[in-house]
Amino acid sequence: MNIEQQITSLRNELREHNYNYYVLDNPTISDFEFDQKLKQLQDLEKAHPEFHDPNSPTLRVGGEITKNFKTIPHTFRMYSLDNSYSKEDLEDWEKRIAKMVDGNVEFTCELKYDGASISLTYENGKLVKAVTRGDGFQGDDVTANVKTIRSVPLQLKGDYPSLFEIRGEIVLPFEGFTKMNAERVEAGEEPYRNPRNTASGSLKLQDSAEVAKRPLECLLYSLVGERLPIKTQFESLEKARLWGFKVPNEAKLAKSLDEVLTFINYWDIHRHELPYETDGVVVKVNNLQQQEELGYTAKSPRWAMAYKFKAEQVSTVLNQITYQVGRTGAITPVANLEAVELAGTIVKRASLHNADQIEKLDVREGDTVFVEKGGEIIPKIIGVDFTKRDPNSQSTQYIIECPECSTPLVRTEGEAQHYCPNTEGCPPQIIGRIQHFISRKAMDIEGLGGETVALLVNNGLINNYADLYLLKAEQIIPLERMAQKSAENIVNGIEASKQIPFERVLFGLGIRYVGETVAKKLTKHYKTIDALINASEADLVTVDEIGERIAQSVVSFFASEENLTTIERLKSYGVQLEISADELANQTDTLSGQIFVVSGVFTKVSRNELKKLIEDNGGKVSSAISSKTNFVVAGDNMGPSKRTKAENLGVAIISEDEFLEMINF
Ligand SMILES: [Zn+2]
Repeated sequence: MNIEQQITSLRNELREHNYNYYVLDNPTISDFEFDQKLKQLQDLEKAHPEFHDPNSPTLRVGGEITKNFKTIPHTFRMYSLDNSYSKEDLEDWEKRIAKMVDGNVEFTCELKYDGASISLTYENGKLVKAVTRGDGFQGDDVTANVKTIRSVPLQLKGDYPSLFEIRGEIVLPFEGFTKMNAERVEAGEEPYRNPRNTASGSLKLQDSAEVAKRPLECLLYSLVGERLPIKTQFESLEKARLWGFKVPNEAKLAKSLDEVLTFINYWDIHRHELPYETDGVVVKVNNLQQQEELGYTAKSPRWAMAYKFKAEQVSTVLNQITYQVGRTGAITPVANLEAVELAGTIVKRASLHNADQIEKLDVREGDTVFVEKGGEIIPKIIGVDFTKRDPNSQSTQYIIECPECSTPLVRTEGEAQHYCPNTEGCPPQIIGRIQHFISRKAMDIEGLGGETVALLVNNGLINNYADLYLLKAEQIIPLERMAQKSAENIVNGIEASKQIPFERVLFGLGIRYVGETVAKKLTKHYKTIDALINASEADLVTVDEIGERIAQSVVSFFASEENLTTIERLKSYGVQLEISADELANQTDTLSGQIFVVSGVFTKVSRNELKKLIEDNGGKVSSAISSKTNFVVAGDNMGPSKRTKAENLGVAIISEDEFLEMINF
């Protein structure tokens, strides 16, 4: 096999594995084997740039930056569908169309997924363009971002037409959405409200490498083009599946409107078992010849109808409003409801978000309220049934004191949430902070779980995370359900955590808005906790990606005497509060004052390692090229627009090897 054949064969093999994994959900090799093959392909592509392919599987990791999304017209308009809400609506529709076409009418039934609509263009089997719906006539070019979605094939297989468009929906499955939110909450950030908005927001992120990290999926449902070799909608779904697209298997052919209604009734109940959000069923005339006869109105095709499921809504009595206190002291009001069934689950609690929301809805204890389950994981209250309100009811007075420690609450201007400022004395904050400190991504203390932390705090054995390091097995053994062995494990786990590197300790301290990534940035920049403690707000904001909000939060954390005492104690117990000598030995000031932009795929080091090397040697990494950029480190497949921009601004473009020479790597 010559080099070109090797490259082609590896690309085909990797595409097949991508397809098995992301489309069929049925991987046939391990992740490790996949990574090995990917690395092999990257090396070959690097050594032989003449075989460059913009649709190579090596480009799934993203990296291209889009500053402004170009608006481009749709070759074929993206129509919206008429909606129907009842069986009668559908029957009327069927009668109308039966009069307009010859012959028997069959239908395809497909679930309507709630995400961001997209139109993909394929030329000779290669993805060339991905455009958002926009206003239906024109949309935004989001090709670079869509290419990172693993279930979108970059190269088709089988007997595909030479030019066509395919339309579908980019969705965020519930599981991935929940995971993303858990990470945000851990970093003290507001969770995303629902999967649909998060999916469409993701398409407009500037850094495609960020999009690549999100667990988005693309579900396809409609082929568009001239003289396509298909006769029915159902056949087009089957064909698209063979060409490599992810086409949901739930779609069904219905020979009559009765069969359509059976499909609707089935999914109205079972849709909650699906991994994605669905809000209805799309019914289409199956025969494309008949579709053509029916044509379009000014807004929508006559041959299709969306049936919307009834909003998942019930009414129930709100017994009581209670307030939860989080690890950062944030107060969340919770509605405690008379248990009621909603979307297949029993609901007893609903979110009320904050004081403004309560005031806006004018919701009161004893009210009958409407509860809805949208994309949100926790149901929410959307309104009050005022006809059932007790005339003597009083409007809700938001609490002014912490429900756990009675400290007066504070609310910073511009923030929706109230906070309990008693960080040192408020039990849920004390417990929550220690739980965060020991968590897997922070100190990862083996043998110690969240419940044990609460037990230790409630028994007066610890009051902050520094106290952990004074714990003795004899103190733990007398606690409930605790044995000699497990007590020793806890003490050993705590001892071992003294080796955890500084960046994770810093994350574990639980400073608001300092998540994993920010902790890494701060560690790289300041190297020791003392340098960070002495940093001013003005100084902090000069660090890459540190904004005012984070800077303020860091300064206020270290302004607290208690926090400083805790840190001194951690230091005295041997916890890592600076970069270790080993790490430091790899750091220089060689690149001091130089700003780098990294673009493309690299062979000797990964993209992230490359960025780390720049920072370790005193340089700064920026995400976009500007007149301030000193160097662009160009790997394989650097975006052409980036190259032009760098050339126009006179920014030096250097290769991976040239960069590594700069730092004597
Ligand atoms: Zn409190």
